[in-house]
Amino acid sequence: MTRLVLKFGGTSMADLERIRRVARIVAAEARSGKAVAVVVSAMAGKTNELVAWTDGAGRPGPGIDLTDDEYDTVVASGEQVTAGLLALTLRNMGLKARSWLGWQIPILTDDAHGRARIEDVPGDRLGAAIDAGEIAVVPGFQGVTRDGRLTTLGRGGSDTSAVAVAAALGCRCDIYTDVDGVYTTDPRIEQKARRLDRISYEEMLEMASLGAKVLQTRSVELAMAKRVPVRVLSSFVEPDASGKLPAEAGTLICDEEEIVEKRIVSGVAMSRDEARITLLGLADRVDGPADVFTRLAEANVNVDMIVQSQSRTEGTVNLTFTTGRRDAQRAAELMRAGQAEIGFSEIRVDEDVAKVSVVGVGMRSHAGVAQTMFRALADKGIKFQAISTSEIKISVLIDAAYAELAVRALHSAYGLETV
Ligand code: ADP
Ligand code: ASP
Ligand code: MG
Repeated sequence: MTRLVLKFGGTSMADLERIRRVARIVAAEARSGKAVAVVVSAMAGKTNELVAWTDGAGRPGPGIDLTDDEYDTVVASGEQVTAGLLALTLRNMGLKARSWLGWQIPILTDDAHGRARIEDVPGDRLGAAIDAGEIAVVPGFQGVTRDGRLTTLGRGGSDTSAVAVAAALGCRCDIYTDVDGVYTTDPRIEQKARRLDRISYEEMLEMASLGAKVLQTRSVELAMAKRVPVRVLSSFVEPDASGKLPAEAGTLICDEEEIVEKRIVSGVAMSRDEARITLLGLADRVDGPADVFTRLAEANVNVDMIVQSQSRTEGTVNLTFTTGRRDAQRAAELMRAGQAEIGFSEIRVDEDVAKVSVVGVGMRSHAGVAQTMFRALADKGIKFQAISTSEIKISVLIDAAYAELAVRALHSAYGLETV
């Protein structure tokens, strides 16, 4: 029997009416003879509410590492509710279904509470259950440590749960969400964004890590490592009178070789989750930057972009770097604590920044991609504060007020509305 994993996000599970629609999609797949496991998110907004409750109860502030296992006990509960409700709804439709909580499968993770990584998912029992015709409903986002404590996988983590379950079952993973695929950029920002039929794992990984929240970055990493074919498609569909689903197009995330039509740039991504820190008047010692970045690395603060420039005061430089916004205050405190030893005169923290990126495997072999980007930004009068590149992406840091304008300008400059 063909196995299949289906995943439904928060908007798709938002209330009982939507859960019934999800159940009709699941039923259509099961009745067509497939062995089905479903991974679900909490109802839209639920996880935010639960996180706010843990804040209210005295969880360490947002800038501080989520080392508290009780945070996970609270926030994992949203998915338990929707998993049970979907299993109940399927039973009421005359299908065999049961929920499988993270610890029952088990989805084994490390003990980094609040952002745990999946280490292993034994697929035998789950596989046997679905092969015997019982639909398995798995709450996304949650796992369990080897010594039995509940964990969660970081925001948006249900995508990763779904890919991990598909890898364990050796099958494809269909991610149903509130858009009908992966677009050239966030369709909420640019209406002219186009759905891509296919996108390579590498490009999707860059898009996700650069801010396209349609898939959690780790889910793409995992899919790429385990070669799990992933489809992104809309949950706003209904089976026809004969119970068949419409031939959904969606977007297939696959190997680069499987994409016939080659593009230079595939998409534009944007993230507001950045902060810029500048050390002014840093003593121009050869080991100055090494000292700064060692302190940050030891505190587990990830640094992304780095720029060093001459300062007006002789013998000193200005050093600018970016971190994730939630780490910015912690990074600044570390710098202030070491100010005398590091040797700088002033520190500035700016959270009003955004990172805009263009992504495409075609950049490997085409010149002029950067030139188009800088021309398009200049034409709109948008200044950039830092740049970083990899083989298949260019990112610029800009003033947050221009983020959406920059996305639209770049989308048009690369002709993405006609992809
Ligand atoms: P779910 O609740 O189903 O997990 P998310 O809200 O996490 O859904 O992700 C879907 C959203 O991702 C879309 O509504 C869309 O606004 C956003 N998004 C950002 N970039 C893209 C993109 N390139 N293609 C499609 N959607 C995108
Ligand atoms: N409910 C979790 C969140 O909102 C996980 C997910 O939906 O993917 O982050
Ligand atoms: Mg999501």
